[in-house]
Amino acid sequence: MKYFDLHCDTIGECSNNNFPLKENNLHIDLQRAKGIEEYTQVFAIWIPDELRGNDAVNYFDKTADYFYNEVAKNKDIISLYKENKETPVKAILSVEGGSACGGTLEGLYHLYERGVRLITLTWNAENEIGSGAFSEGGLTPFGKEFIKEAEKLGIVLDVSHLNRKSFFEFAEIAEKPFVASHSNADIVNNEYGKKRNLSKEQIQIIRERKGLIGLNLCCDFIEDEKASGIDSVCRQINYFKKLECDDIIAFGFDFDGCTVNDKFNGIEKIPMLYSELKNIGYEEDFLDKMFYENANKFFK
Ligand SMILES: [Zn+2]
Repeated sequence: MKYFDLHCDTIGECSNNNFPLKENNLHIDLQRAKGIEEYTQVFAIWIPDELRGNDAVNYFDKTADYFYNEVAKNKDIISLYKENKETPVKAILSVEGGSACGGTLEGLYHLYERGVRLITLTWNAENEIGSGAFSEGGLTPFGKEFIKEAEKLGIVLDVSHLNRKSFFEFAEIAEKPFVASHSNADIVNNEYGKKRNLSKEQIQIIRERKGLIGLNLCCDFIEDEKASGIDSVCRQINYFKKLECDDIIAFGFDFDGCTVNDKFNGIEKIPMLYSELKNIGYEEDFLDKMFYENANKFFK
């Protein structure tokens, strides 16, 4: 099977703790990905909300250095997606938190030059671009400029973590297809499940724009008293299918960024998840789209 994942926080964990990407105790390492025939991972550099301006830029640079160093050390296993090499693992670099640009367009060009090809506009708080899921405002004037410029560069923009107001303002001005890299439908009964997930209207907009939605397996965003484990995954899939989202659904597991149900808590368990969903009755054509093809088509 093939797997394409839109979001993980592994590289920050590796960098902050000096863990190798090849073998570690995190959710993702290259050794344990061996059971997947072709695997593309979007590696996010998460910018903590305490960091703004130059502090955010420096934190990004330090973590990006670590990322490129690990890729170079393991070049027989992993390469950059855009290089189109024959390695079993391919990587796309992203940032989670547009604050990595330090609040300037020069900062955005810097991110592009350093290979960032997807930007999650905010984390939970407000930054120079707009407001996240746990803050009140909308997009800033700089944020609107940032969005236009990032689209011109061909960077994929990611609305996961935006609050509703920022999302709808974003949808007004965005001209290119965009993604929600790690969000679910807001049918999960808890505060996180409501605020971090997408409403029906948001899902329909992403579908009309031919974007992507990556299912997030973070317990808080997918499980509640009515569904856990595989049932919570099926509840999401069935809802997205009802909204005719077969061509835009993918995964953004949120590995190494949160607590994931024990059943799925590592990259080595992805093939098992695929088989389990197949046994439940989902068609292979659909699962292949969800696990790989939709995202691969989008990024190609
Ligand atoms: Zn996140």
